[in-house]
Amino acid sequence: MIASGKELSDKLKAKMAEEVATFPEKYGRVPHLVVILVGDDPASVSYVTGKATAASVVGIKGTTLRKPESMTEEELLALIAELNADDSVDGILVQLPLPKHINEDKVIAAISKEKDVDGFHPGNVAALWQGLDCIYPCTPLGVMRLFEEHGVELEGKRAVVVGRSTIVGLPMVKLLLDANATVTVAHSRTKNLAEITSQAEILVVAVGRPRLIKGDMVAEGAVVMDVGVNRDPVTGRLCGDVDFDEVAPKASIITPVPGGIGPMTICCLMENTITCFLRKMNK
Ligand code: NAP
Repeated sequence: MIASGKELSDKLKAKMAEEVATFPEKYGRVPHLVVILVGDDPASVSYVTGKATAASVVGIKGTTLRKPESMTEEELLALIAELNADDSVDGILVQLPLPKHINEDKVIAAISKEKDVDGFHPGNVAALWQGLDCIYPCTPLGVMRLFEEHGVELEGKRAVVVGRSTIVGLPMVKLLLDANATVTVAHSRTKNLAEITSQAEILVVAVGRPRLIKGDMVAEGAVVMDVGVNRDPVTGRLCGDVDFDEVAPKASIITPVPGGIGPMTICCLMENTITCFLRKMNK
């Protein structure tokens, strides 16, 4: 079965839109998400546009602040401080990657933890690993929403996560552990990757290598979530980290690229914005 993130995200966004429509009466306004884009990297421009479109579908107020590549770190930190102090702003997202002269860690840490809709702030990361109330990073949360939608039982299952980045792989490991899966993490230094992936009942791949995972690396009946977004070196078209044509016949559930985890990530950004808004309103 193909697990369409596009379909699920449309369904969840429609539900969120209904909820958000009740907010003006309850709280006097709708949630407000501010997205900051520094520079004009085409992929980042397209991601930011997708986020603004999703916000308008859900009824969230979306503001995109486009800044020149020449913006200094001090200027960006000053802008974040201003938005942190602005009571009408509920969520702040700085589109990554930032130009090389700006320290990303410093910028992420400068965003108020309560407005950190990406879930990247060190305070949110620590809270996630300590099992405390936090904002979950959008991509792993999107994967969990797809498991839920398709009734995938995680408890006691052998799960393998390929990739250990702080924004996808590691929080994915924690969310799977919290769901009582038995988790193995593979990365670039892993030996015999195929041996490990072929034992997975649940396989999440977040690497950034076109079609790394081949048919003979996956067990019959595995649930496969492909986070990767790559350009096919030959055709130039988008493709995942999983060789879809080879793996789909063996998988019980698989996500496509595009139309899989990508739309779920944006959908969960909307969910996180609503969560930040409600936490503030219900304080
Ligand atoms: P990243 O920070 O570059 O991390 C990649 C991870 O893959 C690293 O842990 C690396 O291992 C591991 N790796 C690299 N080559 C490998 C190999 N040959 N075998 C096994 N592991 C290998 O990437 P990321 O930010 O997590 O993103 C991963 C992919 O997901 C990218 O294609 C990105 O575009 C995509 N992505 C998609 C979404 C979405 O919404 N769909 C969101 C975020 C990211 P080491 O740690 O040893 O270096």
